[in-house]
Amino acid sequence: MDHNVISFSGGKDSTAMLLLAIERDTPDLSVVFADTGNEHEQTYDYVRYIESATGVPIRWVKADFSRQIAGKREFVLTKWADKWGAPQEAIDRAAAALVPTGIPFLDLCIWKGRFPSTKVAFCSEELKRNPIIEQVQKPLLETGNVISWQGVRRNESLNRRFLTERELKTTAENGNEMWNYRPILDWTADDCFAMHKKHGIKHNPLYEQGMGRVGCMPCINARKDEINEIAKRFPEVIERIAEWEWSVRLASKHNAATFFASENMPAGTTPEQHYDNANIREIVKWSATARGGKQRDFLREMDGPVCSSIYGLCE
Ligand code: SF4
Repeated sequence: MDHNVISFSGGKDSTAMLLLAIERDTPDLSVVFADTGNEHEQTYDYVRYIESATGVPIRWVKADFSRQIAGKREFVLTKWADKWGAPQEAIDRAAAALVPTGIPFLDLCIWKGRFPSTKVAFCSEELKRNPIIEQVQKPLLETGNVISWQGVRRNESLNRRFLTERELKTTAENGNEMWNYRPILDWTADDCFAMHKKHGIKHNPLYEQGMGRVGCMPCINARKDEINEIAKRFPEVIERIAEWEWSVRLASKHNAATFFASENMPAGTTPEQHYDNANIREIVKWSATARGGKQRDFLREMDGPVCSSIYGLCE
């Protein structure tokens, strides 16, 4: 028996893939939305809309980092002084901040003491891939094979260009297999929007509001112009990220953390200077400047259009 699992993000690709699965009358279909806690309200509404427009139930899953945060708190209280000579003030500050909020994205960063970055992109795996595997796919593997549908397209990025349509991921002890299946690998973005039209389904309204991709708001891979649009259209998002930066900063070793990385600063730059240079309000100011008018070292990286994940969970 095959269980078909669709990872649904609220973006055009996974919506098109879901419509394709419905069109094919795919048996034993489970649709899963991994809520990072960093999505825009319009995306949450869109997930509800798709459920009611297609009649296919969408299961919401969430990562929970309370155990890891408790472990880190214990580590801070018992090891920081010996391991790196942390002053009592830093230990008290971090221990007090190591408390789960129930918001997966924020809790992940509180646990790690940092935000993910393009180079250290642990977010997609921790917030989307793992909860879907642990909460949905592994239990299904007990009673049959799992076909994990992934809405990735070859022309999105170099690391997706050479993917295969089907790939055996793992074989469980009971002999059941988990497969990756990528049915829209050769589709274009236009093909995805055409699929919406064919089925009379609206696309996520965020595409009409300056967002090139739908996923976290903002995504660590947001383009400069997207950040500028977010700041203009959704200032409350910037306020939330400023608050998150403060929470993660308090839980961090160096009392500094920014949502977007501040890299290649001159040697000797203090954590506070990194924070002053790249906190979200500074990033927003920079995003409103002419390209090249104010160069930042991460400009090159932030031009990357897609998440580096090959699992297609972030669009
Ligand atoms: S959408 Fe962006 S920030 Fe969110 S999990 Fe994916 S890569 Fe990370």
